[in-house]
Amino acid sequence: MKLILATHNEHKVAELEAILRPLIPELEGLESAASLGLDEPLENAITFEGNALIKARAVAQAAGVPALADDSGIVVDVLGGAPGIFSARWSGAHGDDAANVALLLAQLADVPVEHRGAAFVSAAALVMPDGREFTQLGEVRGTLRFERSGNGGFGYDPIFQPEGFEVTAAELAPEQKNAISHRGRAFTAFAPVIRREVFGA
Ligand code: IMP
Repeated sequence: MKLILATHNEHKVAELEAILRPLIPELEGLESAASLGLDEPLENAITFEGNALIKARAVAQAAGVPALADDSGIVVDVLGGAPGIFSARWSGAHGDDAANVALLLAQLADVPVEHRGAAFVSAAALVMPDGREFTQLGEVRGTLRFERSGNGGFGYDPIFQPEGFEVTAAELAPEQKNAISHRGRAFTAFAPVIRREVFGA
């Protein structure tokens, strides 16, 4: 069986498939909401969990199937937790990774390394067609670089150095990133819930 992931971000589909398939043998793959021709709902909650539930609910209600979602972002200490839920549209245009990273680097240009702490946060959500809802948070801490480095991953990966590493998330192999990432942690903890609710396992 394929599960629907309520996203139009194909990077997230690929990352989550790699994370979940080893943990859920019954899962044949993930399909994006875009592949079903569903529009993206307005994400107007004020928490990661709230926005993840909005996305999963929209798909579960429209398609009548169990739906998974991830809402995630980067939380910067010296900015009081911003960009947070505004991470995807920090520079104004939704999903413009290059402009978002450029703006964040400019805002932190004078902030010394000891004050450049940040975290990636992910909220995983599962909404069942009968309306039952489940969520799980995951987080990875790190520091923000002064310049981009690496070509892997997406979003803020080229400027985020995870705790315990000397390279950015964009320089990690996909398996390394998934083993420590916010999304890896949230969905690894969530996998037993998905197995139980969706597959009865
Ligand atoms: P969402 O798709 O609405 O959850 O927005 C998430 C935004 O947070 C993305 O556009 C990225 O800018 C950022 N983000 C989330 N996860 C990651 C990641 O794993 N690496 C880098 N940036 C991320």
